[in-house]
Amino acid sequence: MVNITEVKSSGRDHRTAAHTHIKGLGLKSDGTAESIGNGFIGQVAAREACGVVVDLIRSKKMSGRAVMLAGGPGTGKTALALAVAQELGTKVPFCPIVASEVFSAEVKKTEALMENFRRAIGLRVRETKEVYEGEVTELVPEEAENPLGGYGRTISHLILTLKSAKGTKKLRLDPSIYEAIQKERVTVGDVIYIEANTGACKRVGRSDAYATEFDLEAEEYVPVPKREVHNRKEVVQDVTLHDLDMANARPQGGQDVMSMMGQLMKPKKTEITDKLRAEINKVVSRYIDQGVAELVPGVLFIDEVHMLDIECFTYLNKALESPISPIVILASNRGNTVIRGTQDIVGAHGVPPDLLARLLIIPTHPYNPQEIQQIIRTRAKVEGVAISDAALEKVSEHGAKVSLRYALQLLTPASILSKVNGRQEIGPDDVAECEDLFIDAKRSAKLFESSNGFMS
Ligand code: ATP
Repeated sequence: MVNITEVKSSGRDHRTAAHTHIKGLGLKSDGTAESIGNGFIGQVAAREACGVVVDLIRSKKMSGRAVMLAGGPGTGKTALALAVAQELGTKVPFCPIVASEVFSAEVKKTEALMENFRRAIGLRVRETKEVYEGEVTELVPEEAENPLGGYGRTISHLILTLKSAKGTKKLRLDPSIYEAIQKERVTVGDVIYIEANTGACKRVGRSDAYATEFDLEAEEYVPVPKREVHNRKEVVQDVTLHDLDMANARPQGGQDVMSMMGQLMKPKKTEITDKLRAEINKVVSRYIDQGVAELVPGVLFIDEVHMLDIECFTYLNKALESPISPIVILASNRGNTVIRGTQDIVGAHGVPPDLLARLLIIPTHPYNPQEIQQIIRTRAKVEGVAISDAALEKVSEHGAKVSLRYALQLLTPASILSKVNGRQEIGPDDVAECEDLFIDAKRSAKLFESSNGFMS
């Protein structure tokens, strides 16, 4: 089992980049929505309904159930799901996927679903770290015979003496910590900070005694007050179960020569197997029992859910029953559709009845022109794009006529064009030029139709 503190989180930030202005559902304490709040504009009823869902989750009444956001494209379904995760707390995982993503030639679809379930389950680990901090008064590498024979000698340990207000402490450290110390270019007289279990080392400054030898103006040699030599510090780390799966699927091994050689023989990445996941679940349960860690169920958002097939839906039903299920929010912009993987069974939103029965369905509605303008104005501000009122008017018209998505997508290219045209802000001409360069889907399809069977 890897040390959890070394696990790097594999965020998918690019997926939420379009929603950076959304900071929550923007609800008042009585659960009603302000018409504008937390970056949200309009969609008041859906935001209030999502607020009720958040209350249900907090009072643990959502198990075995899921949410469905039903509404047209660009009506804020993804934004609402993200806001639910934000309302549940900071560092609550949010995993957005599009249903069609689970189909690939390499990974089984249920396997892909499982992976995303585990991306949406967080683990908060509280660890007490042993930390040494103080002025280096002695820094001596201890040498040993080369274990492979030959003439060279290797460093077996590092003798480090740290002085602080509390006294002096002599440490005999692992050679890997020596590497960290060398990387930080630590010398006698530096005040450093070392984590005993990970070997992470940081130079925090220069002791008073040595400071005068250096340029006091230079930031790195600012004298620091004497510190405690030995401390215990609580650190909190947030990872997802998928992060743990990944970290453990990678070949492991120590720094010694034999295990490094062993790794050469192994493939780069071992598969995440059910056995590995079971193993990790066991360790996680142990951490939870010991009070070291707690589970943080996040939100798994599955857009275009009608693209899932009957097997995936069966899997979803089962996964929702699991005691460690995340909150599942589905989204669809379809009405009655044939359920994928069946001959002709039609279900609302392409979802089979047994799953439909578990759903709380929240509709989202199209925006009015003022709301569209407000959303575009907000996005322009967040993206640091200057836009004139007349141009904003023009972009908003597209939002109302074509789609909010299309209008929002015009912002960046229009801003580039305005710069090329030597303007400080987007003008109506830049928007017009953009319209010609990037046509919307309806116009694009029409072009093909009018070109006499160009496509056929
Ligand atoms: P699709 O069905 O195509 O996936 P969607 O319903 O999930 O669309 P979003 O992706 O949430 O729509 O919305 C499109 C863009 O508009 C995003 O940048 C989103 O943050 C923004 N947006 C949507 N609704 C609102 C709103 N009510 N207030 C502020 N921003 C919004």
